[in-house]
Amino acid sequence: MQLPYTESLHANEKNGVLYYSFPSMDALPFIRHGFSTRLGGVSEGIYASMNLGYNRGDEAEKVTENYRRMGEALGVDYRDMVLSAQTHTTNLLRVTAADRGRGITRERGYTDVDGLLTDDPDVILCTHYADCVPLFFVDPVRKAVGMAHAGWRGTVGGIGKAMVERMTAEFGSDPADLLVGIAPSIGPCCFEVDTPVVEEFRKLPLFDAACFTDDGNGKYHVNLWEVNRRILLSAGVTPEHITVTDLCTRCHPEVLWSHRATGGQRGSAAGFLGLRLDND
Ligand SMILES: [Zn+2]
Repeated sequence: MQLPYTESLHANEKNGVLYYSFPSMDALPFIRHGFSTRLGGVSEGIYASMNLGYNRGDEAEKVTENYRRMGEALGVDYRDMVLSAQTHTTNLLRVTAADRGRGITRERGYTDVDGLLTDDPDVILCTHYADCVPLFFVDPVRKAVGMAHAGWRGTVGGIGKAMVERMTAEFGSDPADLLVGIAPSIGPCCFEVDTPVVEEFRKLPLFDAACFTDDGNGKYHVNLWEVNRRILLSAGVTPEHITVTDLCTRCHPEVLWSHRATGGQRGSAAGFLGLRLDND
């Protein structure tokens, strides 16, 4: 099966594992990253085949094998990965090599972590998705990375801005240096919400008519990509440093995990991001 065409992302294949990457980050030799699809794993049934969620009811051995395969495709060891513990918060956790394997080879030891950041080249950040918006952050100057999970609550809570501020505080990052990627997730075509949710978005000063459509029956379609882009701009990221996906997960449920398209009977995608300072 082929991946849907997109102008914003690179489609990659290695050993049968298909994944997307951001051209801006592929251009950096000290970055390894990718966003998984449903293709190239060993899980079966509703989890077929690249399920990276241990909490979905799939067999743990198969999920671990899927991590091993993703790691091989990305050129990293899956035992060096650290997993988030996502609950739609805006909590961020700085990790180091001492955290390797948390969530895969051993217990996490933390809860309520929707974003991870590091400047340690010996650890790979990993966050999970099935319609929610993946945010990838790279500071090419300070050599640091971050990943954040932005569902609608995380988006309204400003997790993108929180990551920029945290990278500034932890690593001395200049927001104008940061490269940010918004990976495949539910698009403005499919993210339908009702009045209480759109009212939460309206509390954001940057939320205007260009961020949603009013369907006229108490239903709205919100553009999470644009809202997140504006939040990043408000934090000082420059427009030319933001890559925005044009791939909607719900429009492509055969190759991308979508919670809404599957009614929740599904596996999970994952984003992976780490530094490679040894150039091996
Ligand atoms: Zn769609």
